[in-house]
Amino acid sequence: MTLLTQENDTIRSILDATQDPSLHKIAEKVFENKRLSTEEGEHLLTCSDDHFVQLLADYARKARVGDTVYFASTLYIHPTNLCELSCPMCSYYAKPGWEKAWFSSPEEVEAKVRKHYEADQVREIHVVGGLWRDCDLNYYQDMFTRIKKIDPDLHIKALTSVEYDFLAKLHNITVPEVFERMKSWGLGSLPGGGAEILVEEIRKQLAPQKITSQEYMDIHQIAHEAGLPSNITMLFGHVEEPKHIIAHLDWVRSLQDITGGFQTFVPLRYHEEGNALGKRKKRLKPQSNIRRVYAVSRLMLDNVRNLKVLWNYIGPEEAQEILRYGANDLSATSMEERIITLAGGIGVKVKMTRDTMSQLIRQIGRTPKEIHSGYDYQEEDRLLCSESVS
Ligand code: SF4
Repeated sequence: MTLLTQENDTIRSILDATQDPSLHKIAEKVFENKRLSTEEGEHLLTCSDDHFVQLLADYARKARVGDTVYFASTLYIHPTNLCELSCPMCSYYAKPGWEKAWFSSPEEVEAKVRKHYEADQVREIHVVGGLWRDCDLNYYQDMFTRIKKIDPDLHIKALTSVEYDFLAKLHNITVPEVFERMKSWGLGSLPGGGAEILVEEIRKQLAPQKITSQEYMDIHQIAHEAGLPSNITMLFGHVEEPKHIIAHLDWVRSLQDITGGFQTFVPLRYHEEGNALGKRKKRLKPQSNIRRVYAVSRLMLDNVRNLKVLWNYIGPEEAQEILRYGANDLSATSMEERIITLAGGIGVKVKMTRDTMSQLIRQIGRTPKEIHSGYDYQEEDRLLCSESVS
């Protein structure tokens, strides 16, 4: 069968999966590499044509980024869970004197990195913790310098926008100055935590004391302008409605048009265990359709290359399935991850190895590729949406 015939057959099967003419119109736009509107995004999120949306997202994934699925060998460092805030959606934080509180010195962090570097070939260090004044810039200078002494090629992906805002205020300096110093000590990129939902009325219910959506996005823009790529998350499945998910995706897409600095979009399903919001669960809306949220993220975010599924949030089998719904990144081996563990993540009892990750990817006919410090697209670089940069 020629490639052209295959493509025509795929398009035909997508169109055959729905009788809804408005969905046919959306599909045509995707085939023509055109940007979807927020109204079209909301229609995709709420329509009843599951199979159609799945096929369309899988088409967009293949057309935009090919069949490679990325993963990394990552060690999580959570310096402390002590935090000055008490966000209702958070299962992680502790206060002084609590039994579950911990604090790790830079020496202890170094020992942990050394152990996993040698035993597990860890190549990426993901640092994220609470807002705590003992974790100041001197602390991070010491920690990063120690990590880089083990191997200068170890990639440090560290701290959320919320933590950078905290550090700037703590030292009475600007956020760009914080980035400048952290870069000189080895910072390579930012993870995407703390975005929650970028709509104030919802964000206030999840984390009323955190920086606003605008402040959060401003700090990502500053990072990108400082040459630091970042990821960005979206916490869903709590009190949001479809229009809030679409507003979040639209804001990410708009900032990406300006900076191009987002490497990966990471939808995170909210877990209700161990947090105040979960205790009020009678007030929560039914859980969003996780697969649909991934599919629509792929279709709306025509300018963000990678869509990551965290297997430890939802279990390895479901994560593998979501690779058919637009995702192209199976996250990481996630050694010593604790935020999801404390919130009752489904996959936390699984010991995930690099071999198991490769196997999960191959089982669905895709090609695994381990990344060490950022993505490497050389072999298969493709154009993203033709209308994505205005
Ligand atoms: S979400 Fe972050 S800032 Fe909020 S309480 Fe938890 S650790 Fe602290």
